[in-house]
Order: sequence, then structure tokens, then C-alpha cells
Amino acid sequence: TDERPHVGRFAPSPTGPLHFGSLLAATASYLQAHRAGGQWRLRIEDIDPPREQPGAREAIPAVLSRFGFAWDGPIQYQSDHLPCYQKALEQLLESGWAYPCACTRREVREAGRQGPDGPIYPGTCRQGLPPGRQGRSIRLSTQDSEASFQDSLQGRIQLDLERDMGDFVIRRADGLIAYHLAAAVDDGDPEITHVVRGIDLLYSTPRQIWLMQCLGLTPPRYAHIPVALSLDGQKLSKQTGAQALDPERPSPSLHQALQALGQAIPPELQTAPLDEIWDWAHANWDPAPLKGRKEIDYPVWEKGS
Ligand code: GLU
Repeated sequence: TDERPHVGRFAPSPTGPLHFGSLLAATASYLQAHRAGGQWRLRIEDIDPPREQPGAREAIPAVLSRFGFAWDGPIQYQSDHLPCYQKALEQLLESGWAYPCACTRREVREAGRQGPDGPIYPGTCRQGLPPGRQGRSIRLSTQDSEASFQDSLQGRIQLDLERDMGDFVIRRADGLIAYHLAAAVDDGDPEITHVVRGIDLLYSTPRQIWLMQCLGLTPPRYAHIPVALSLDGQKLSKQTGAQALDPERPSPSLHQALQALGQAIPPELQTAPLDEIWDWAHANWDPAPLKGRKEIDYPVWEKGS
């Protein structure tokens, strides 16, 4: 058993403002950590400058504060960890788990089978670059990988990484470190014990666990919460036009988030001061209603225009 003190985290990307889906992940991870008497860290995943929205790095912590979240320790910025990711990349290349790949996205799409989470890499460059081709990205081999895991909400997730997802990119063709590598290094930090996040990242987890295994890191425990859908049934995200959280009116949104997370919060608390809502949440938080749930049917939000 794991005797480490519970440390959870919330890890938003500064690609846009926080929306209702972000609030669900933040709230669930926060209450889970506090219920265990543990800590909650804030990590800004700012390693993709082309996708970054100017000002979001600063706006995210400010909005979280307005919603009453308080993180332990300093805010971590992944852009400060680039040397660690580089070291991990070198370690994977030296140990032979990682290899240069010449394939373009399009080649992979055309040659690979379709898996549950995108096209499966057909293994073209695993045994060496084809003659005359140059390496573009760096991939991690999934040969003989073991990446099944126990999710505390979704149960046993059993899959064969090599067959179902294939070798995946850990350094992109544009030279940037890929999300999976950065997340694996940071969540594999011995300090982090619990990851609570949206089920849209469920297929990221076996890849990140495999990366941690290749790097000799200990994976945390995982809980994937159901994902919020917009009125037209799409996953709520910046791409589907989810509205930004309104920092001027945190109480109704937090109340709504707790309800969406299956908590039996009294309706009259909707207009209560934020502190009262948090007091109720800390006293009553129970993740059981989320067990086995993939989607939140709580279509109360409107699409942003
Ligand atoms: N930064 C990513 C996101 O916002 C990953 C979050 C996570 O791993 O919890 O979707």
C-alpha cells in the first residue's frame, strides 16, 4: 500500500479561459485531496506556445482564486521544467525505448488502422528510418507494454497499448515536448499521489503510465470523472465553444458544478456566499455518485457565441 501523504493536482493548459468542464475537474480533485487531509497543487501546462492564449497563464490562477480555490505551494509552470523533460527524452533514447520517426501525420492516418483514440501507428520507423528519410518526431515504443490500471471511479481499465494505440509521439515534429511526456514526468514525481481528471483523458493514462515505467517512475492513482456535454451533446471544451467561467459570479457556477458532480447540495445554497458553499462541500463531498459514470447529464450551459 501507498503510505505517501495524498497530493493531488489540477493541470490546466493555458489555451483559453477556464470553463465549466475545467471547474468540474478542479472541484473534484480539490475536494478529493482535502477529504484525504492532503494537498492540492496547481500546475500550468504551458509547453505549447503556438496554442497558448495570451494572458491565460495569469487569468487561470486569478479565476481559481475568485472561485475560492487555494493551492498548496507555488504554482508550477511546465515551461520551467523543460530541462527535466529533455533529460527524460535522452534517457528514453539511450535505453532504446524511444526512436526517431520520419512519418507525417497524414502517412500515419493513411497507413494505420483506426483505434479507439485515433490512428494506430503502423510501426514504420521502429526498426530504423526508411532509406532516404529524416527523423521528424520521436516516438516511444509500446512493445511488450503493460498499461492496464485500476481507476478508482471507472474500475479496471484493460487494454493493450501496442495493439489499441501504438507507438506514440513524445517529441513533436516542431521540436516541442509532447503533452504525454511532460505529464508523465510531472505526475510521476514521487510527491504526486492522485490524479483526478476528465474521462476525455482516459486513453492518455495508459500511455503516461507506460512512460513512467520506462523512466523508472511510480505512477500515481487515477480517477477519471465524467465529462460535461454541451446542449448539442458534444464534449464541453474550448473547441466546442464552452463559455468562460464568470469570476464575478462564482457561487452559482460552483453550486452547479457540485450538483453536476452528483452532490446533493441544497438548492438554497445557490445564492449563498462562496464560503458557505465550500463549507458544505468539504463536509459532504462524496465521489460515489461518479462511479462508472462517463457523462454528466446536466445540460444547463449555453454555447458561447
Ligand atoms: N493540461 C491538460 C488539459 O487541460 C491535461 C490535464 C491533466 O492531465 O489533468 O486537458
